[in-house]
Amino acid sequence: MNAVWIDDEVAPAAQDTKEAKAAKIERETHKLEKRLCRQMGQAIMDFNMIEEGDRVMVCMSGGKDSYGMLDILLKMQQRAPINFEIVAVNLDQKQPGFPEHILPEYLAKLGVEFHIETQDTYSIVKRNIPEGKTMCSLCSRLRRGILYNVARKLKCNKLALGHHRDDMLQTFFLNMFFGGKLKGMPPKLTSDNGEFVVIRPLAYVAEKDLIRWAAHREFPIIPCSLCGSQTNLQRVQIGNMLRDWEKQYPGRAETMFTALQNVVPSHLMDHSKHDFKNIRPTGLEDENGDKAFDAEEFPTPARSGLPGLQVVTL
Ligand code: SF4
Repeated sequence: MNAVWIDDEVAPAAQDTKEAKAAKIERETHKLEKRLCRQMGQAIMDFNMIEEGDRVMVCMSGGKDSYGMLDILLKMQQRAPINFEIVAVNLDQKQPGFPEHILPEYLAKLGVEFHIETQDTYSIVKRNIPEGKTMCSLCSRLRRGILYNVARKLKCNKLALGHHRDDMLQTFFLNMFFGGKLKGMPPKLTSDNGEFVVIRPLAYVAEKDLIRWAAHREFPIIPCSLCGSQTNLQRVQIGNMLRDWEKQYPGRAETMFTALQNVVPSHLMDHSKHDFKNIRPTGLEDENGDKAFDAEEFPTPARSGLPGLQVVTL
């Protein structure tokens, strides 16, 4: 008798749970998609990244970030109040084991205009850099030159890169700790040859969300370690530091990311950014003036507005 009761009760409950779970996943995915679109749209607007008539070259490495960038950019293109073009570009550097069919197949299926540039920079780097030395600076210099040529050939005026806000925060600390500079990774800047505008539409997007989106969309990810280059130990160190901080003080990473958008040059020490030499009394009250001996008090970081920076544990 008991068994009947239990069976009758358990079967629908299990069913409910399964359906409830599926509905929850669907809801969460929908929320994630909305968040990705909102954050990319906000970044595009805040920095005026894309304008009427732009032809944007979307640089595809085959990693989750560039797939995510293209995917969301294509959605934005459909709803944007302006017209702009997208060309996806991948540089096949001839690294051993690079699965060269994956990106063309994916991009052709997507129906987006694309170009695969094949240039054996791998052999050049291997030939010129002694074994054990880091290859990245020569490799990226070559890659940059090639991508500029491709952008010129394809008549693109903007280059979109898939860096997200965790990359930006890491770069900020790398520059501060190892470069002695208060400098991050810009969401928009002219290329070093002055010819193009480089944009980072994922500037407000957390890496954790890109990982989830890549899993949901089942992007055919190409491993990034094919070149066999050593890991950048300084970046690893900074990544670990940020993860530890976030674990110990949840919300700290978000506050730091907000700080990158709230710079007060008068309270730093760069003479070229603030005219310290000519400071005179104004006779006017200024809430940003020096508080002299007041204790500094800080509000508890708000966890609203842009959703928190989520540092991913690798
Ligand atoms: S990690 Fe490899 S592919 Fe990337 S820049 Fe360095 S050498 Fe080049």
